[in-house]
Amino acid sequence: MIFSEQEVLDLYHRNPEELCRQAEVLCRNTYGNKVYLRGLIEFSNYCVMDCLYCGIRKSHSAVKRYRLDHEMIMAIVRKGYEAGLRTFVLQGGEDPWYDEAYLCRLLENIKSLTRDQCAITLSCGIRPRHEYRAMKQAGADRYLMRFETADPELHQYLRGGVTLKQRLQALDDLKASGFEIGSGFMTGLPDEKPDSLIKNVSLCKELELDMVGIGPFIPHKATPLAGAKQKPLSEALYAVAMVRLLLPLANIPATTAMGTLEPDGRERALECGANVLMPNITPAEFKKEYLLYPDKICLEESGFECIGCLSLRCRGVNRELSFEIGHSQSFMNKGVYYADKKS
Ligand code: SAM
Ligand code: SF4
Repeated sequence: MIFSEQEVLDLYHRNPEELCRQAEVLCRNTYGNKVYLRGLIEFSNYCVMDCLYCGIRKSHSAVKRYRLDHEMIMAIVRKGYEAGLRTFVLQGGEDPWYDEAYLCRLLENIKSLTRDQCAITLSCGIRPRHEYRAMKQAGADRYLMRFETADPELHQYLRGGVTLKQRLQALDDLKASGFEIGSGFMTGLPDEKPDSLIKNVSLCKELELDMVGIGPFIPHKATPLAGAKQKPLSEALYAVAMVRLLLPLANIPATTAMGTLEPDGRERALECGANVLMPNITPAEFKKEYLLYPDKICLEESGFECIGCLSLRCRGVNRELSFEIGHSQSFMNKGVYYADKKS
């Protein structure tokens, strides 16, 4: 079943419970009861950016900064691969210390270590277009870069002058370089307009995203948004459900921020159409320093211990963890489409 934006909007206003039910049905039609696992590696908390919402923004001088080097990242990937993980997400601040050559060598070595049997997702912000091309050629498969908010004025204000247009241009560059593309937004940002949620959801559809990351904004006390009001998780859950109905083939994670806001936040997201979980396999001593927002969950344990816990959580909502590589169905379809076009 294909839903129009108007139908999704009507359902959201008329019967949000039914919206979530339909989204879960559609998710199961595409991905069965599988929930794909991704190993998240937070490789650097240095950032040249000063986004007003973020706990590791450059002006937050109390943060103990760290960078994981090539050897350490390779050791984490090796352990993850042995544990069965087949997607690694390398996330960090915008940190030019990792130049093109460094990242490309890392990507090539990860691919060779895992005998080309894993997918690599990068999430390290805006970089020059030629670097995206080089990183794709070196073995990166996917790139995550949320647009954060579809409201141009709010975007520019929150992101230190970087415009929404620049962020969308970067996503375009990534697409042109052949990446499987992920973007998304935070719900409940301060100073949003009443139609912000709908505009955010519509932009995901317009961008034909392969992956959509949605999380509730959680105010951090050491940022300029410290005094912002915490909005309820439900907004993020309804956003997941709406995006699932508009992009039935996308991969949509149940995010850590959801689990931070409510103990069963991620399970509830799975019941609204999410199909991905991302245990954080960064060594505990470093992940404690990657506090985008307060009270982040799973800081004490290793991400490998989390896999057992996540498995139980999935079963609780009648789903099963999957160790498959788990490409987005929408990206797979585009591949067929492009191949057809060439012939
Ligand atoms: N630096 C890269 C970027 O900004 O795209 C990737 C890392 S960034 C820390 C990952 C995501 O964290 C951002 O896209 C943003 O949506 C989210 N984030 C940052 N601060 C947050 C907060 N206070 N509450 C919830 N999510 C937050
Ligand atoms: Fe840096 Fe990303 Fe945080 Fe912005 S959200 S300050 S780019 S790490």
